[in-house]
Amino acid sequence: MKDETKCLHAGYTPGNAEPRVVPIVQSTTYTYDSTQEVAAVFDDPTKSIIYSRFANPTVMAVEEKIAALEGGVGAMCTSSGQAANLLAVLNLCDAGDSIISTPEIYGGTINLFTHTLRKLGIECIYVDKNETAEEIGRKFKPNTRLVFGETIANPALDVFDIEKFAAIAHEHGVPLIVDNTFATPILCRPFDFGADIVTHSTTKYMDGHAVQGGGVIVDSGRFDWTNGKFPGLTEPDVTYHGISYTEKYGEAAYIIKARMQLMRDFGCYPAAHSAFLLNLGLETLAVRMPKYCENAEKVAAYLQGRKEVESVKYPGLPGDENYQLAQKYLKGSSGVISFVIKGGREKAMQWMNALELASNEVHVADIRTCVLHPASETHRQLSDEELKAAGIDGGMVRLSVGLENVEDILEDLEKGFAAL
Ligand SMILES: *Cc1c(COP(=O)(O)O)cnc(C)c1O
Repeated sequence: MKDETKCLHAGYTPGNAEPRVVPIVQSTTYTYDSTQEVAAVFDDPTKSIIYSRFANPTVMAVEEKIAALEGGVGAMCTSSGQAANLLAVLNLCDAGDSIISTPEIYGGTINLFTHTLRKLGIECIYVDKNETAEEIGRKFKPNTRLVFGETIANPALDVFDIEKFAAIAHEHGVPLIVDNTFATPILCRPFDFGADIVTHSTTKYMDGHAVQGGGVIVDSGRFDWTNGKFPGLTEPDVTYHGISYTEKYGEAAYIIKARMQLMRDFGCYPAAHSAFLLNLGLETLAVRMPKYCENAEKVAAYLQGRKEVESVKYPGLPGDENYQLAQKYLKGSSGVISFVIKGGREKAMQWMNALELASNEVHVADIRTCVLHPASETHRQLSDEELKAAGIDGGMVRLSVGLENVEDILEDLEKGFAAL
């Protein structure tokens, strides 16, 4: 199936006289005919469903759809994008381990990696994406367990050189995890370029309508976990009768371990109703993404022509420092543009306050056009140094171009400039 078809049909195929639409299974539990049958599911939770803390039929239909879109062997939904990135890391790292990431990532992920993971005994080593493979390779430690990056960085809008980082990670015997939130599998499939695990905040384009939060982890099934660095996947798990995930589940070892251990223990699983709403968004994802890109390309070109604008960052804009990478990895650069208004913090806020159609909201990748001021909103927890490392200026505005008619969007942006 092609993307448009997968969006509508993957993950759920009704049988004779069954509901055409994925049903909301609003039940926390499931009944069985005998205790032996329940015991069998406890022995191998992949065989059936026993409890809503880590499995639900509505959520699993969505998981299958997303796995199909990304080209993975399995997926697990979480109650937020943050939970997805946390579990993606904890599935590989114990206290005493380290991870490698570029600093051009979501502010919430920087907090998680720099501060909260450190409290759990996991160190995040940040590397400069422009350094050579050799220089980056020197930052690895014997305890490094993964490499992390964002396809299109939020909000820096740098395009991650997936092939380069996949090669570096694999040379060091660890997987590459890519947060593919902004691109979605419609604009980029990181597995096609060597990534091993993909995460998403489904709160953004996948849901697309700003109605519910969520996240997902997708497993490519291609990484070989048996090189000695991942005993959690290869050695017996005492909490599951001594099974080895790689021996028992082969290529799906990573994603099954994430559900059986981490989701069981942390319980950040989405509700069936949330998954139902997410599925509605996913049904139109392949139709929506190209339109966001088309609108944003026009808006980026308009902004670039304004004298009040110091710089525009949009990977799809010819001349953008990420243009080549965008051409290589993306079928479009999404609807998100960041640009810097001359005069810093003050002017950026003035411009934003004058908009009428675009809403000032802490969100991005919505169906409606919205704006956000990273320095005073999403990234206000970061020090000036961290802000700089994340590529954020005081005058930076993050503009998320929606699906309105682009002429109406441009007219609204004019109002902002008129107010300066
Ligand atoms: C929003 C976002 C997250 C966090 O997702 P939530 O659903 O808000 O928890 C993670 N990564 C990226 C790239 C994001 O844009």
